[in-house]
Amino acid sequence: MLIDNVTWFLERVVEYSFSSFMSWDAFVAAIGKVPRVFTDFSHGFAWPYLLSSVLVAWILYVLAKRRRETDVAWFREFAFPGRLYRHPSTLLDCRFVAIDLFLYFLLYVPIITGINLLGYKVMGAMIFGLTSWEPPSTLAPALAVGVAIGFLMLHDFINYWLHVLFHKIPALWAFHQVHHSAEVLTPVTAYRVHPVELIGFAVCNAPVVGLAAVFYQNFVGGEVQLLSIFGISILGLLGSHLRHSHILFCFPHSLSRIVLSPAQHVIHHSIDTQHWNKNFGVKLAIWDALFGTLYVPREPETLQVGLPDADPREFSTVRQLYFLPFKKSVKECIGPARKLLPAGLSQERIR
Ligand SMILES: [Zn+2]
Ligand SMILES: [Zn+2]
Repeated sequence: MLIDNVTWFLERVVEYSFSSFMSWDAFVAAIGKVPRVFTDFSHGFAWPYLLSSVLVAWILYVLAKRRRETDVAWFREFAFPGRLYRHPSTLLDCRFVAIDLFLYFLLYVPIITGINLLGYKVMGAMIFGLTSWEPPSTLAPALAVGVAIGFLMLHDFINYWLHVLFHKIPALWAFHQVHHSAEVLTPVTAYRVHPVELIGFAVCNAPVVGLAAVFYQNFVGGEVQLLSIFGISILGLLGSHLRHSHILFCFPHSLSRIVLSPAQHVIHHSIDTQHWNKNFGVKLAIWDALFGTLYVPREPETLQVGLPDADPREFSTVRQLYFLPFKKSVKECIGPARKLLPAGLSQERIR
Protein backbone atom coordinates (compact mmCIF):
# COMPACT_ATOMS: atom_id res chain seq x y z
CA MET A 1 0.00 0.00 0.00
CA LEU A 2 2.75 2.41 1.02
CA ILE A 3 4.82 1.42 -2.02
CA ASP A 4 1.79 2.04 -4.27
CA ASN A 5 1.28 5.49 -2.78
CA VAL A 6 4.96 6.41 -3.10
CA THR A 7 4.98 5.18 -6.72
CA TRP A 8 1.85 7.19 -7.46
CA PHE A 9 3.36 10.36 -5.95
CA LEU A 10 6.64 9.93 -7.79
CA GLU A 11 4.79 9.38 -11.07
CA ARG A 12 2.88 12.64 -10.49
CA VAL A 13 6.14 14.48 -9.71
CA VAL A 14 7.76 13.18 -12.91
CA GLU A 15 4.59 14.04 -14.82
CA TYR A 16 4.72 17.62 -13.48
CA SER A 17 8.47 17.94 -14.02
CA PHE A 18 8.30 17.12 -17.72
CA SER A 19 4.83 18.54 -18.36
CA SER A 20 6.26 21.12 -20.79
CA PHE A 21 7.48 18.32 -23.04
CA MET A 22 4.30 16.19 -22.97
CA SER A 23 2.76 17.96 -25.97
CA TRP A 24 3.62 20.64 -28.51
CA ASP A 25 0.93 22.94 -27.03
CA ALA A 26 2.40 22.59 -23.52
CA PHE A 27 5.86 23.36 -24.91
CA VAL A 28 4.65 26.46 -26.76
CA ALA A 29 2.67 27.60 -23.70
CA ALA A 30 5.80 27.34 -21.50
CA ILE A 31 7.98 29.18 -24.04
CA GLY A 32 5.26 31.81 -24.40
CA LYS A 33 5.71 32.79 -20.74
CA VAL A 34 9.24 34.07 -21.40
CA PRO A 35 8.29 37.37 -23.12
CA ARG A 36 5.50 37.86 -20.55
CA VAL A 37 7.99 37.83 -17.70
CA PHE A 38 7.70 41.62 -17.34
CA THR A 39 3.98 41.32 -16.52
CA ASP A 40 4.24 38.12 -14.46
CA PHE A 41 4.08 39.37 -10.86
CA SER A 42 5.50 36.10 -9.54
CA HIS A 43 8.79 36.91 -11.30
CA GLY A 44 11.26 39.55 -10.14
CA PHE A 45 11.46 41.05 -13.64
CA ALA A 46 7.81 42.19 -13.46
CA TRP A 47 7.45 45.90 -14.19
CA PRO A 48 6.26 47.00 -10.69
CA TYR A 49 9.47 45.66 -9.12
CA LEU A 50 11.70 47.19 -11.80
CA LEU A 51 9.88 50.52 -11.74
CA SER A 52 9.83 50.78 -7.94
CA SER A 53 13.57 50.05 -7.80
CA VAL A 54 14.23 52.85 -10.30
CA LEU A 55 12.04 55.11 -8.16
CA VAL A 56 13.99 54.24 -5.00
CA ALA A 57 17.25 54.89 -6.90
CA TRP A 58 15.87 58.30 -7.95
CA ILE A 59 14.97 59.17 -4.34
CA LEU A 60 18.47 58.14 -3.19
CA TYR A 61 19.97 60.21 -6.03
CA VAL A 62 18.01 63.30 -4.99
CA LEU A 63 18.70 62.78 -1.27
CA ALA A 64 22.43 62.25 -1.84
CA LYS A 65 22.67 65.77 -3.32
CA ARG A 66 26.09 64.91 -4.61
CA ARG A 67 25.16 66.80 -7.73
CA ARG A 68 22.83 69.72 -8.01
CA GLU A 69 21.71 68.58 -11.44
CA THR A 70 18.75 66.30 -11.20
CA ASP A 71 18.05 65.98 -14.89
CA VAL A 72 17.43 62.65 -16.55
CA ALA A 73 20.86 62.34 -18.20
CA TRP A 74 22.69 62.74 -14.89
CA PHE A 75 20.36 60.26 -13.22
CA ARG A 76 20.82 57.75 -16.04
CA GLU A 77 24.57 57.88 -15.53
CA PHE A 78 24.08 57.56 -11.74
CA ALA A 79 21.69 54.58 -11.97
CA PHE A 80 22.91 52.83 -15.12
CA PRO A 81 26.62 53.66 -15.54
CA GLY A 82 28.05 52.29 -18.78
CA ARG A 83 31.17 50.94 -17.02
CA LEU A 84 28.91 48.49 -15.13
CA TYR A 85 26.25 47.77 -17.72
CA ARG A 86 28.80 47.14 -20.49
CA HIS A 87 31.13 45.16 -18.20
CA PRO A 88 31.91 41.60 -19.47
CA SER A 89 30.45 40.21 -16.23
CA THR A 90 27.11 41.94 -16.90
CA LEU A 91 27.08 40.78 -20.52
CA LEU A 92 27.68 37.22 -19.26
CA ASP A 93 24.82 37.66 -16.74
CA CYS A 94 22.54 38.65 -19.63
CA ARG A 95 23.54 35.65 -21.78
CA PHE A 96 23.15 33.27 -18.83
CA VAL A 97 19.74 34.69 -17.88
CA ALA A 98 18.50 34.67 -21.50
CA ILE A 99 19.00 30.88 -21.58
CA ASP A 100 17.96 30.41 -17.96
CA LEU A 101 14.57 32.08 -18.51
CA PHE A 102 13.64 29.43 -21.09
CA LEU A 103 14.83 26.64 -18.77
CA TYR A 104 12.97 28.32 -15.90
CA PHE A 105 9.57 28.04 -17.58
CA LEU A 106 10.24 24.79 -19.41
CA LEU A 107 11.79 22.85 -16.54
CA TYR A 108 12.38 24.58 -13.23
CA VAL A 109 8.81 25.81 -12.62
CA PRO A 110 7.25 22.38 -13.40
CA ILE A 111 9.92 20.59 -11.30
CA ILE A 112 9.42 22.93 -8.34
CA THR A 113 5.63 22.55 -8.71
CA GLY A 114 6.06 18.76 -8.62
CA ILE A 115 8.32 18.95 -5.56
CA ASN A 116 5.84 21.19 -3.75
CA LEU A 117 2.97 18.86 -4.67
CA LEU A 118 4.91 15.99 -3.14
CA GLY A 119 5.53 18.10 0.00
CA TYR A 120 1.82 18.90 0.21
CA LYS A 121 0.73 15.27 -0.19
CA VAL A 122 3.29 13.90 2.26
CA MET A 123 2.55 16.51 4.93
CA GLY A 124 -1.21 16.04 4.46
CA ALA A 125 -0.82 12.24 4.75
CA MET A 126 1.31 12.63 7.88
CA ILE A 127 -1.11 15.00 9.59
CA PHE A 128 -4.43 13.42 8.64
CA GLY A 129 -3.43 9.87 7.74
CA LEU A 130 -1.12 8.95 10.58
CA THR A 131 -2.97 10.84 13.30
CA SER A 132 -6.65 10.91 14.19
CA TRP A 133 -6.58 14.69 14.47
CA GLU A 134 -9.53 16.55 12.94
CA PRO A 135 -9.01 20.18 11.91
CA PRO A 136 -11.43 22.66 13.52
CA SER A 137 -14.03 24.03 11.13
CA THR A 138 -13.11 27.67 11.78
CA LEU A 139 -9.99 29.53 12.82
CA ALA A 140 -9.82 33.05 14.27
CA PRO A 141 -8.41 35.46 11.62
CA ALA A 142 -5.72 36.74 14.02
CA LEU A 143 -4.57 33.17 14.65
CA ALA A 144 -4.57 32.40 10.91
CA VAL A 145 -2.40 35.46 10.23
CA GLY A 146 -0.12 34.56 13.16
CA VAL A 147 0.40 31.04 11.82
CA ALA A 148 1.02 32.39 8.30
CA ILE A 149 3.70 34.75 9.69
CA GLY A 150 5.17 31.73 11.48
CA PHE A 151 5.41 29.90 8.13
CA LEU A 152 7.11 32.91 6.55
CA MET A 153 9.66 33.01 9.38
CA LEU A 154 10.27 29.26 9.21
CA HIS A 155 10.75 29.50 5.43
CA ASP A 156 13.23 32.34 5.90
CA PHE A 157 15.05 30.45 8.70
CA ILE A 158 15.49 27.40 6.42
CA ASN A 159 16.76 29.63 3.60
CA TYR A 160 19.26 31.26 5.96
CA TRP A 161 20.76 27.89 6.92
CA LEU A 162 20.69 26.60 3.34
CA HIS A 163 22.63 29.69 2.26
CA VAL A 164 25.15 29.08 5.09
CA LEU A 165 25.55 25.43 3.98
CA PHE A 166 26.02 26.46 0.34
CA HIS A 167 28.95 28.57 1.56
CA LYS A 168 30.45 26.14 4.08
CA ILE A 169 30.24 22.79 2.24
CA PRO A 170 32.77 22.79 -0.63
CA ALA A 171 30.65 20.49 -2.85
CA LEU A 172 27.74 22.95 -2.54
CA TRP A 173 29.93 26.07 -2.73
CA ALA A 174 30.95 24.89 -6.23
CA PHE A 175 27.37 25.67 -7.32
CA HIS A 176 26.77 28.81 -5.23
CA GLN A 177 30.09 30.21 -6.47
CA VAL A 178 28.33 30.86 -9.80
CA HIS A 179 26.22 33.57 -8.15
CA HIS A 180 29.23 35.10 -6.38
CA SER A 181 31.41 35.02 -9.48
CA ALA A 182 29.80 38.21 -10.81
CA GLU A 183 32.48 40.91 -10.84
CA VAL A 184 29.95 43.73 -10.87
CA LEU A 185 26.36 43.73 -9.61
CA THR A 186 23.32 44.66 -11.66
CA PRO A 187 19.73 43.47 -11.16
CA VAL A 188 20.37 40.72 -13.72
CA THR A 189 23.00 39.19 -11.39
CA ALA A 190 20.19 38.11 -9.05
CA TYR A 191 19.32 35.46 -11.66
CA ARG A 192 22.87 34.17 -12.12
CA VAL A 193 21.95 31.17 -9.98
CA HIS A 194 22.90 27.59 -10.79
CA PRO A 195 19.87 25.26 -11.28
CA VAL A 196 21.24 22.84 -8.65
CA GLU A 197 21.01 25.65 -6.08
CA LEU A 198 17.52 26.59 -7.26
CA ILE A 199 16.22 23.01 -7.10
CA GLY A 200 18.14 22.29 -3.87
CA PHE A 201 16.39 25.18 -2.12
CA ALA A 202 13.00 23.99 -3.47
CA VAL A 203 13.57 20.42 -2.19
CA CYS A 204 14.60 21.59 1.29
CA ASN A 205 11.71 24.04 1.48
CA ALA A 206 9.13 21.48 0.27
CA PRO A 207 8.10 20.26 3.77
CA VAL A 208 7.32 23.77 5.03
CA VAL A 209 5.70 24.81 1.73
CA GLY A 210 3.64 21.58 1.88
CA LEU A 211 2.70 22.19 5.49
CA ALA A 212 1.64 25.75 4.69
CA ALA A 213 -0.47 24.48 1.76
CA VAL A 214 -2.18 21.91 4.01
CA PHE A 215 -2.87 24.70 6.51
CA TYR A 216 -4.27 27.11 3.93
CA GLN A 217 -6.44 24.46 2.24
CA ASN A 218 -7.94 23.10 5.46
CA PHE A 219 -8.28 26.20 7.60
CA VAL A 220 -8.51 29.13 5.26
CA GLY A 221 -10.03 27.36 2.26
CA GLY A 222 -7.48 28.50 -0.30
CA GLU A 223 -4.12 30.09 -0.80
CA VAL A 224 -3.22 33.16 1.24
CA GLN A 225 -0.66 35.57 -0.09
CA LEU A 226 0.73 37.49 2.82
CA LEU A 227 2.53 40.78 2.21
CA SER A 228 1.10 41.16 -1.28
CA ILE A 229 -1.48 43.35 -3.01
CA PHE A 230 -3.19 42.06 -6.18
CA GLY A 231 -0.50 39.41 -6.43
CA ILE A 232 2.30 42.00 -6.24
CA SER A 233 4.81 41.35 -3.46
CA ILE A 234 5.14 44.36 -1.15
CA LEU A 235 8.73 43.40 -0.29
CA GLY A 236 9.51 43.35 -4.01
CA LEU A 237 8.50 47.01 -4.17
CA LEU A 238 11.05 48.07 -1.54
CA GLY A 239 13.94 48.47 -3.95
CA SER A 240 14.48 44.72 -4.26
CA HIS A 241 16.61 45.11 -7.40
CA LEU A 242 19.08 47.24 -5.46
CA ARG A 243 20.18 44.02 -3.69
CA HIS A 244 22.31 43.52 -6.78
CA SER A 245 23.39 47.01 -7.64
CA HIS A 246 26.16 49.59 -7.13
CA ILE A 247 23.61 51.83 -5.36
CA LEU A 248 23.70 51.16 -1.64
CA PHE A 249 20.20 51.35 -0.20
CA CYS A 250 20.56 51.11 3.59
CA PHE A 251 17.71 50.93 6.09
CA PRO A 252 17.90 52.71 9.48
CA HIS A 253 20.30 50.82 11.77
CA SER A 254 17.65 49.37 14.09
CA LEU A 255 15.49 48.18 11.14
CA SER A 256 18.58 46.58 9.53
CA ARG A 257 18.73 44.23 12.52
CA ILE A 258 15.25 42.90 11.68
CA VAL A 259 14.91 43.14 7.89
CA LEU A 260 17.87 42.79 5.56
CA SER A 261 18.37 45.94 3.49
CA PRO A 262 19.45 45.70 -0.17
CA ALA A 263 22.84 47.19 0.85
CA GLN A 264 23.38 44.34 3.31
CA HIS A 265 23.09 41.80 0.49
CA VAL A 266 25.61 43.79 -1.58
CA ILE A 267 27.94 43.47 1.42
CA HIS A 268 27.40 39.70 1.29
CA HIS A 269 28.99 39.84 -2.21
CA SER A 270 31.95 41.97 -1.06
CA ILE A 271 35.47 40.49 -1.19
CA ASP A 272 36.63 42.61 1.78
CA THR A 273 37.65 40.18 4.56
CA GLN A 274 35.49 41.96 7.14
CA HIS A 275 32.44 41.20 4.96
CA TRP A 276 33.15 37.51 4.37
CA ASN A 277 30.43 35.14 5.55
CA LYS A 278 28.11 37.97 6.58
CA ASN A 279 24.44 38.63 5.86
CA PHE A 280 23.27 35.17 4.75
CA GLY A 281 19.63 36.11 5.30
CA VAL A 282 17.12 36.36 2.47
CA LYS A 283 14.42 38.61 3.91
CA LEU A 284 14.98 38.81 7.66
CA ALA A 285 18.17 39.91 9.41
CA ILE A 286 17.18 38.35 12.73
CA TRP A 287 18.87 35.02 11.89
CA ASP A 288 22.13 36.79 11.07
CA ALA A 289 21.83 38.77 14.31
CA LEU A 290 21.10 35.58 16.25
CA PHE A 291 23.95 33.52 14.81
CA GLY A 292 26.59 36.25 14.68
CA THR A 293 26.73 36.80 10.92
CA LEU A 294 25.06 40.21 10.77
CA TYR A 295 26.89 43.19 9.26
CA VAL A 296 25.16 46.56 9.21
CA PRO A 297 27.07 49.30 7.35
CA ARG A 298 27.32 52.42 9.49
CA GLU A 299 28.69 54.69 6.78
CA PRO A 300 28.98 54.52 2.98
CA GLU A 301 31.59 51.93 2.00
CA THR A 302 33.39 51.37 -1.28
CA LEU A 303 32.81 47.74 -2.16
CA GLN A 304 34.45 45.36 -4.57
CA VAL A 305 32.47 42.22 -5.31
CA GLY A 306 33.35 38.82 -6.75
CA LEU A 307 35.45 35.84 -5.72
CA PRO A 308 38.73 36.75 -4.02
CA ASP A 309 40.61 33.54 -4.77
CA ALA A 310 39.11 32.27 -8.04
CA ASP A 311 40.39 32.35 -11.59
CA PRO A 312 37.98 34.63 -13.53
CA ARG A 313 38.66 32.56 -16.67
CA GLU A 314 36.67 29.74 -15.04
CA PHE A 315 33.58 31.97 -15.03
CA SER A 316 33.74 33.57 -18.46
CA THR A 317 31.21 31.58 -20.51
CA VAL A 318 27.63 30.41 -20.00
CA ARG A 319 28.74 26.81 -20.54
CA GLN A 320 31.27 27.11 -17.70
CA LEU A 321 28.65 28.58 -15.37
CA TYR A 322 26.36 25.60 -16.02
CA PHE A 323 28.77 22.67 -16.23
CA LEU A 324 32.01 23.47 -14.37
CA PRO A 325 30.33 23.36 -10.91
CA PHE A 326 29.47 19.66 -11.44
CA LYS A 327 33.13 18.84 -12.10
CA LYS A 328 34.28 20.88 -9.09
CA SER A 329 31.62 19.39 -6.84
CA VAL A 330 32.52 15.80 -7.77
CA LYS A 331 36.20 16.64 -7.14
CA GLU A 332 35.28 18.01 -3.70
CA CYS A 333 33.38 14.78 -2.91
CA ILE A 334 36.08 12.44 -4.22
CA GLY A 335 38.91 14.24 -2.37
CA PRO A 336 37.73 13.36 1.19
CA ALA A 337 36.61 9.88 0.00
CA ARG A 338 40.16 9.14 -1.16
CA LYS A 339 41.53 9.95 2.29
CA LEU A 340 39.18 7.34 3.76
CA LEU A 341 40.56 4.58 1.52
CA PRO A 342 42.63 1.86 3.21
CA ALA A 343 46.35 2.59 2.86
CA GLY A 344 46.92 -0.45 0.63
CA LEU A 345 44.22 0.48 -1.89
CA SER A 346 45.61 2.38 -4.83
CA GLN A 347 43.90 5.73 -5.25
CA GLU A 348 44.35 5.30 -8.99
CA ARG A 349 41.58 2.69 -8.89
CA ILE A 350 38.85 5.17 -8.04
CA ARG A 351 39.56 7.42 -11.02
ZN1 LIG B 1 26.10 33.67 -0.83
ZN1 LIG C 1 23.28 37.90 -4.43
